[in-house]
Amino acid sequence: MITFDDLKKILVNQYPDEDINVVIKAFHFASVAHSGQKRRTGEDYIYHALATAYNLAQMKMDIPSIAAGLLHDVPEDTDFSLEDVKNNFGKEIAELVAGVTKLGTLKYRGLERYAENLRKMFLAMAKDLRIIIIKLADRLHNMQTLEGVREEKRLRIAQETLEIYAPIANRLGMFEVKTRLEDLAFPYVYPTEYAWVKNIIQDRLKSETKYIEKIKKLAQKDLSKNNINFLQIKGRVKSLYSIYQKLLRRGKDLNKIYDLIALRIVVPDVTECYSVLGVIHKRWTPLKGRVKDYIAQPKPNGYRSLHTSVFTEFGKIAEIQIRSQDMDEEAEFGVAAHSRYKESKNLSNKKNAPTWIKHLLEIQKNITDNVEFVKHIKNDLFLNRIFVFTPKGDVIELPENATPLDFAFHIHTDIGNKCVGAKINDQMVALNHPLKSGDVVEIMTDKNRKMPNPDWLNIVITQAAKEKIRNQLRK
Ligand code: MN
Repeated sequence: MITFDDLKKILVNQYPDEDINVVIKAFHFASVAHSGQKRRTGEDYIYHALATAYNLAQMKMDIPSIAAGLLHDVPEDTDFSLEDVKNNFGKEIAELVAGVTKLGTLKYRGLERYAENLRKMFLAMAKDLRIIIIKLADRLHNMQTLEGVREEKRLRIAQETLEIYAPIANRLGMFEVKTRLEDLAFPYVYPTEYAWVKNIIQDRLKSETKYIEKIKKLAQKDLSKNNINFLQIKGRVKSLYSIYQKLLRRGKDLNKIYDLIALRIVVPDVTECYSVLGVIHKRWTPLKGRVKDYIAQPKPNGYRSLHTSVFTEFGKIAEIQIRSQDMDEEAEFGVAAHSRYKESKNLSNKKNAPTWIKHLLEIQKNITDNVEFVKHIKNDLFLNRIFVFTPKGDVIELPENATPLDFAFHIHTDIGNKCVGAKINDQMVALNHPLKSGDVVEIMTDKNRKMPNPDWLNIVITQAAKEKIRNQLRK
């Protein structure tokens, strides 16, 4: 259970120069407002507010968000109104609380009917991303205490977490939060599968842990020999839910999963990342095509790191991730970790908003129909993303199973319209060939071609490409 002292400690530590009085005031206000209320798990309600605020502090959120985290259930569940919050804490905090309250009143009614829910989430996101992050912190604690909730409600909350909240955390680059949410929801939503995965990885995990320890010692020795200063070197076990998903993709064969544990090396800054990579590759040969430089070419959600898979002297493969301290924090906390975030609350107007947010806002503006909206979201947000390259080396993010035509229309409407062929990694392919991450895609065009082929509507999978084709055909 998180106490007020715990919260104060992390704040003093993390924000030594900031005034935390507003948080102290929010704690007292929330304590009075919730006094006498208990959660189903039996503890005083205020502990939920405290845990939410603590989660936000761990995500490195700003002071107003943490105060809002303490107050987030006040208007909904107590005799105090939003007006009271505003009078005591001002407009900024009151608006955050109002946003969270609004999101909270939306009820999940099964997969098909969550369009409205999602739409509001994204509207809130456009207004102030912090509202979504407070909601994630709230949900994280609700999941941690889900045992105390009625059984059928439990399943609904866990499902909603897996289908809505975890993907949103993922899209915000908050992998730590995403992973925690998934692993908390997994046993409730898929109890049998959860037990199965847990059972089959047990032995592998034991031998793998020993193996990674050996790799770690060797790497450590080499780094010291080369005077490379590292802050952290550790084996990182893949989360249960992502193992489960990978097993589904790999025919349930555990032997086809190589990255059960990856070795992660964290260094002070970027230059050292490449020095580490050099040292690693000097000892072990990298697998062809498995060296990924997400520092030079970050993923569109901002993820940066060097990845490599190497053959080790133990006749096995090891995945190694190399990153700086900043990158490590960003990879865990995503948008929340950016200190510049404070100055860019309204991401929709900012150049540095991730492209997918801009894209969704665009879609949202153009769509009024719920059914259409769900289709969009499913295609454009909840499918896994792949990352492919233009011949010039630019990274393009597309949903899984996207085709060269989706790619062409993504680059430019005109390139799509005039498309006559495509090459992937220098090989000619059919226009419906599904793209894979890492593919270099080249589109061949014919400047005399005016019209897209109507059949293309059955090939493309992104809504944007579909719309562009339809528009052009209408002309
Ligand atoms: Mn709550």
